[in-house]
Amino acid sequence: MSDQHCPGFEANKSLSEVTVKCPDCGKEQEIFSDELGKQVKCKGCDSLFDSTACKVE
Ligand SMILES: [Zn+2]
Repeated sequence: MSDQHCPGFEANKSLSEVTVKCPDCGKEQEIFSDELGKQVKCKGCDSLFDSTACKVE
């Protein structure tokens, strides 16, 4: 992780919520945009999936 201790609001502004859908059980859930590109653990079935590939437009 890089050092992101920027003062002010700029850093937080770029953080938004993204909806992703589990490929195994189809449950939709919201993650923060900084979690895109990481593995997300499904709240429905506990399976790990790629958040970018399963993003809901
Ligand atoms: Zn699931």
